[in-house]
Amino acid sequence: MSWDGWRGRARGQSCIDRRLGSRCAASKGTRALPDQIPTSWQPVRAKLPPPWPLPSLGRAIGRGLACRCPACGQTRLFQGYLTVTPVCAECGAPLGLARADDAPPYFTILVVGHLVVPLMFLVDRSYTPALWVMSAIFLPLTLVLSLALLRPIKGGTVGLMLKLDMLKAPDGPP
Ligand SMILES: [Zn+2]
Repeated sequence: MSWDGWRGRARGQSCIDRRLGSRCAASKGTRALPDQIPTSWQPVRAKLPPPWPLPSLGRAIGRGLACRCPACGQTRLFQGYLTVTPVCAECGAPLGLARADDAPPYFTILVVGHLVVPLMFLVDRSYTPALWVMSAIFLPLTLVLSLALLRPIKGGTVGLMLKLDMLKAPDGPP
């Protein structure tokens, strides 16, 4: 209890705690002590920046496409073919929390389909090869393109998710 609070109580006022004491002191024109400054009880809603570096969106996606850490670009993003490194050893970015799920296959199908199908129509219209020739060309081409693009597209997706803070909660469901 501060001196103003004691004084207010001695005068019969209802200063039962420091905040009320401060209000009484302010109403009486007396000086408020530093610890009697009214405190805002609103929850803190300001989003704190993450401890790892956060580059621009284009740079984060570009680093991911190059299969590097989207945050710092110093370490490798993948441990194997598609397994994302859980935490970047250089900057500490939680790369494993960016669960891309089926977005990379979707984007890969989108890209490969838009490359292979027009090319297939073009070759068919121009040369009209036999069906087995078309199959011998375009089935392996589709397979190779899909396997080659899936990894960088997953890296770009992880970069996008890291930049947009689309990370799974560390203690959330798998
Ligand atoms: Zn990093």
